Amino acid sequence: MELEKQINDELSVYGHTLENAANEEIYYALLSLTKRKLQQTVTLTGKKKLYYISAEFLIGKLLSNNLINLKLYDEIKQLLKKYNKSITEIEEIEPEPSLGNGGLGRLAACFLDSIATLGLCGDGIGLCYHFGLFKQIFENHKQKEIKDVWIQTNSWLNQQEISFQVPFDGFTLESVLYDLDVVGYENGKNKLHLFDIKKVNENAVMDGIHFDKTNILKNLTLFLYPDDCDEDGRLLRIYQQYFMVSNAAQLILYEAKKNHVNLHKLYDAVTIQINDTHPTLIIPELIRLLMLEGLDIEEAIQITSRTCAYTNHTILSEALEKWPRSYLEETVPHLLPIIDILDQKVKDTYSDPKVAIIDNNQLIHMAHIDIHYCYSVNGVATIHTEILKNTELKHFYDIYPEKFNNKTNGITFRRWLYSCNPELDQWISHWIGDAYKKDADKLQDLLAYIDHEECLNQLAKIKLQKKKQLCDYIFTHQDIELDPNSVFSIQIKRLHEYKRQQMNALYIIHKYLEIQSGKLPTRPITMIFGAKAAPAYTIAKDIIHLILCLSDLINHDPFVSKYLRVVMVENYNVTLAEKLIPACDISEQISLASKEASGTGNMKFMLNGAITLGTNDGANVEISQLVGENNIYTFGQSSDSVILHYQNGDYDPKKIYENDEEIKQAVDFITSEQLMKIGDPDILFELQHELIYKDWFMTLLDYHDYVQTKNRAFSDYEDQASWKKKMLVNIAKAGFFSSDRTISQYNEEIWKL
Ligand SMILES: *Cc1c(COP(=O)(O)O)cnc(C)c1O
Repeated sequence: MELEKQINDELSVYGHTLENAANEEIYYALLSLTKRKLQQTVTLTGKKKLYYISAEFLIGKLLSNNLINLKLYDEIKQLLKKYNKSITEIEEIEPEPSLGNGGLGRLAACFLDSIATLGLCGDGIGLCYHFGLFKQIFENHKQKEIKDVWIQTNSWLNQQEISFQVPFDGFTLESVLYDLDVVGYENGKNKLHLFDIKKVNENAVMDGIHFDKTNILKNLTLFLYPDDCDEDGRLLRIYQQYFMVSNAAQLILYEAKKNHVNLHKLYDAVTIQINDTHPTLIIPELIRLLMLEGLDIEEAIQITSRTCAYTNHTILSEALEKWPRSYLEETVPHLLPIIDILDQKVKDTYSDPKVAIIDNNQLIHMAHIDIHYCYSVNGVATIHTEILKNTELKHFYDIYPEKFNNKTNGITFRRWLYSCNPELDQWISHWIGDAYKKDADKLQDLLAYIDHEECLNQLAKIKLQKKKQLCDYIFTHQDIELDPNSVFSIQIKRLHEYKRQQMNALYIIHKYLEIQSGKLPTRPITMIFGAKAAPAYTIAKDIIHLILCLSDLINHDPFVSKYLRVVMVENYNVTLAEKLIPACDISEQISLASKEASGTGNMKFMLNGAITLGTNDGANVEISQLVGENNIYTFGQSSDSVILHYQNGDYDPKKIYENDEEIKQAVDFITSEQLMKIGDPDILFELQHELIYKDWFMTLLDYHDYVQTKNRAFSDYEDQASWKKKMLVNIAKAGFFSSDRTISQYNEEIWKL
């Protein structure tokens, strides 16, 4: 009753009540009410505070998540139902904050949720990008980027009084701070601090996502990672990174001084987690600011090193940031004397050029600054950390074995179970009670029901229900009709060659040709993709083009479409992931072994009862160990063998193509008459050429094993009795991947809050 009155009070500004308000009015009423409840929530405190610094926070919509954590969700859902309103429809009104690319940003968001849930005192710090990454639309079977306008007058952002001056070469930028409340599940709150520039000019954006990259005073926070295919774009990234970390360091020292922290012992009161290399410049910046506070450089370096910890997210060498010294000279010259000293200290101690900060080409290796001057270096899945120690970062591991540690990624169950799949959440609670909400390992209690027919049938029914909901959504939004009784195989993640969406596309071609020749699958197959490609990443965009062309060809083929459908959802984001993941039967995690550091999509699917079809890569390896080989489909070359191929340089896709009839047929089809009629011949030729002559991520090498293993999965799906058991085992074993577990480990082994 109380809550109903509160909502109606909020609605009174529109002259309405729940009885007659529009969905939009209800959304803004709930936003305002929830923000007030958040304000009343206690702020988490502690003797030591964590600052999690990240260029990305892919937080997703916040209404449901906040209501769940405030324990108001069920009551509000019931209340709305009473007035014939659905919370799902109300949520459609909320724009999704566009503050991240993919896994790395989503991880940061899951971590903030778990940090608050565990009652730890820790804030996030990032940037407030006005148009975020970009919004993806499809035109002529191609990705087109437009600006993603997500900030509205009424939003979760709370503007703060605080502001800092950030010095660049020749000018200073004044910052504005927006805070978001991050409330834990039945716990207190922390903050996500998002910095913006005071004089940002949204009108600087011209057609699509194009803007004048040189006008730093006005454009710095317009987009996340603007196009770095030219020098202006790369310089802008450095401006962004420094703006982020200088504000972060100033905020940290401001809060430390406010709390009378002895700066000589900053590390007792503060710890800073550097999420990938983007925030690396916080190291020289903090040293610089500590020196301004009167510390000498030696002590400032010492203290900074004891305060900062680094997370490595990739072993793709092209993704490890290296900036020409001249770029820093041009943008932040005041940091160079410090970076030079950091570099010289390393060179004085270690002669190995592989561990130098500044190499012979005058490139500054950001990750090397982190490894030398952080007290902890962690990888994000067991196999990833092992590869770092034994191969990629071996030279560093030999110097600092004690710094290296693993923290296998995790996901917050509040969003990836309770919120996105309330039906499954209720099913779990019905059979094993609610204890798993505080202790995810308790999900294993489900194993007691492995032979319980009723329990298993309910599980299958929920999966079907989620598939139907997804079919409705896709029909409404993309006008494609799907059959919920077909088997759903889903690959949703950023488009990257190492993730090998192209291998999945080759499978689709193979199936298409098989079906045309009369070899029909027992049950219709639905293949779903979702992926954005970086605007300057041509091959990734070409792969999207291929998938969209295949989708057009197959869905409009009156015969084949009875057995096979292909969909690529537009503008894949957190909101779409929340609809797709609960509806999945087969989770495609098919990266080339050794390339996917962890993956977190794989964990979300497992938790929602999908079975993984994957390589022995990233956290797939840990999933496999947990569920056992009967409950996962693994295939492909091992990471050891892949690494050897790279070392020996002996992978030759052309040889495979020429000697393998089936592969040749599939690859040739890319430039078949049928596809060329639909698509852009130049692009299709280019892509085919790439596969035959380069195939840097060894698609053709794993092709047969992939096809066979996928066919086996489809065939096993027909044995529904045992498939349901596989689903149950996957859910029961997913507890390990709760980000609450990950964060407890960060805290116990790194942060020690
Ligand atoms: C979880 C998630 C990702 C990461 O997916 P991976 O399969 O681990 O690469 C990317 N984007 C969104 C929107 C996500 O929710």
